[in-house]
Amino acid sequence: MALSPNERVRLVAFDLDGTLVERTVYVWQTLHERFGSDPARRRRAQADYFAGRIPYAAWFQHDLDMLAERGATRAAMLACFDDMRPATGAHEALRGLRQRGYRLAVISGSLDLLLERHFPGRPFDHVLINRILFHADGRIAGGQATPYDLEGKADGLRELARREGLALEECAFVGDHTNDLSVLRAAGFAVAVNVKDPEVARAAHRVLDAHDLRALLPLFPGPPPCPPR
Ligand SMILES: [Mg+2]
Repeated sequence: MALSPNERVRLVAFDLDGTLVERTVYVWQTLHERFGSDPARRRRAQADYFAGRIPYAAWFQHDLDMLAERGATRAAMLACFDDMRPATGAHEALRGLRQRGYRLAVISGSLDLLLERHFPGRPFDHVLINRILFHADGRIAGGQATPYDLEGKADGLRELARREGLALEECAFVGDHTNDLSVLRAAGFAVAVNVKDPEVARAAHRVLDAHDLRALLPLFPGPPPCPPR
């Protein structure tokens, strides 16, 4: 008997901002607002990226430089992240999925520091995210841009499928916003939570109305048995 899309899944990948973490839509925006970056300068860099005039890594570096200029140290950024929260039921949902035997991943254009702040137990098998580096005194030293944000998120899921020896049909994605559209459309099973845009709901196989990630568990009964070799 043919399996339905959710019954084929072996790996579940998540977006971070707005999906696993609440009280921010995009962490970059929240940080710039907190540290008082010049919004016009920020919008110019964003426009340059979306017009193809600068690569993602240059946009990332530009945002880091702006935050560093405004005094965004490691401690100050962590203080900002303390105002955010893991989504309701996030830890329980991750634990439940793990117990059922799923591989877990994050594919995000957010920051590793935010993930580590709210998910310190490293509950993920794979993390594709921007990395930020600090000097010993906490000042921003630089970073490493993820190649897997926005349109690249779908490539991120393909990369994880390759690493795990899976088909894309065996990989699910859970996200909330338009930067997830490419990967929601590529995933074998796509779930929209905390939806920010109607297009996100249209791209998903399932939409969670409850703002509680434990509502994911009934959608993931456990990965199918491995085929005999
Ligand atoms: Mg998001």
